[in-house]
Amino acid sequence: MTEEEKGPETKFSRREFIKCSALLGGTLLAGQLGWATDLVRRAEAGLLSPEEEYELAKAENILHTVCLQCNTGCGIKVKLFRKNGQAVAAKIDGNPYNPFVLFPHLPFKTSPAEAVEIDAAICPKGQSGLQTAYDPYRITKVLKRAGKRGENKWQSISFDQAIDEIVNGGNLFKDIPGEESRKVEGLKDICTLRDPDLFQRMAFDIKDISKKKTPEEKKAAVEDFKKKYAGELHYLIDPDHPDFGPRNNQLLYMWGRKKAGRSEFSARFFGGTMGTTNRHGHTTVCQGSLYFSGKAMSEQYTEGTFKDGQKFYWQADCEGAEFILFVGANLLDANYGPPNRTPRLISKKFAVVDPRFSKLASKAWKYLPVNPGEDGALAMGMLQWIIKHKRYNESYLIF
Ligand code: SF4
Repeated sequence: MTEEEKGPETKFSRREFIKCSALLGGTLLAGQLGWATDLVRRAEAGLLSPEEEYELAKAENILHTVCLQCNTGCGIKVKLFRKNGQAVAAKIDGNPYNPFVLFPHLPFKTSPAEAVEIDAAICPKGQSGLQTAYDPYRITKVLKRAGKRGENKWQSISFDQAIDEIVNGGNLFKDIPGEESRKVEGLKDICTLRDPDLFQRMAFDIKDISKKKTPEEKKAAVEDFKKKYAGELHYLIDPDHPDFGPRNNQLLYMWGRKKAGRSEFSARFFGGTMGTTNRHGHTTVCQGSLYFSGKAMSEQYTEGTFKDGQKFYWQADCEGAEFILFVGANLLDANYGPPNRTPRLISKKFAVVDPRFSKLASKAWKYLPVNPGEDGALAMGMLQWIIKHKRYNESYLIF
């Protein structure tokens, strides 16, 4: 690497950099908050002094990371402003090395000193990450209920205390009238089955019970199971329903959105370590229609019927399309990230079907304002027209 490629020399150590970067997590002390919010406000308004702007254009003041303001995960560069050993994030832009936000992206061998001058575009929600980080109402401490449910009374406790109470349970609300003697179970009371061999043997026998056809056969199989595991039934949620599994399953883990990396970590922790099968993401519900229609689309015609769909997740090749019909979808507001798709698709020929005259509709070749709930009728009308005018690819349909 040449001296030029190395960029300007800095005495800033990695440890110091991470220390400053940690401030992005909203851990600014109260005394620093005024300085930070003033700087962020002026940065957003374009009112930084030349000296401040110069600081933001130094490679060592850039943190390349990932925006998590939505599920797209665009690459971002966070510009840090430093003062008296402290740092504040003053501006967020697109990371020019990242193919999601710059098309084509910078070659990875480009030095940070060079890349610092190139800002890729991200959406306004991504830029508002600053407001999320420095929101004065952002919860950065553990809050514990300090009144009856619904009274909205809270106290902040330390992370150490929170972990201790979550793991060990106890008389956690003894100061609240009516809950003086209520014992709350901790994770250690729930995640009691820890023997992987017993886990496996029980699971095997429970699977066997589920294969029994009649209620009588099932009942007899449950009795046999109870006899076989007489000394271990306390591990189960309900010995008469071994299919509920061990008490470990009473730990429910629900998440919003997460992708590779975080999902493996949580599967290992909640599944492999805590032993619960109750791990549910919200995607299971809201994106189910996409997954199951994708599966249906990949079914094969076998022995007189369609079956064995393999592919759950389909994404259209919009970039290679000659014409796009957007129905209810909005390229400029959503759909896996405006920074990624908008620059690739906005110059294509497309039509928009939407009851609302969206920003995308304003750029469309044709705009069709259907009434809410009538898009199904539109699709049927299109099908009928295609069949009537033989505008389908016959050789493709017949194989
Ligand atoms: S689309 Fe916008 S909000 Fe979502 S990750 Fe990208 S920059 Fe952030």
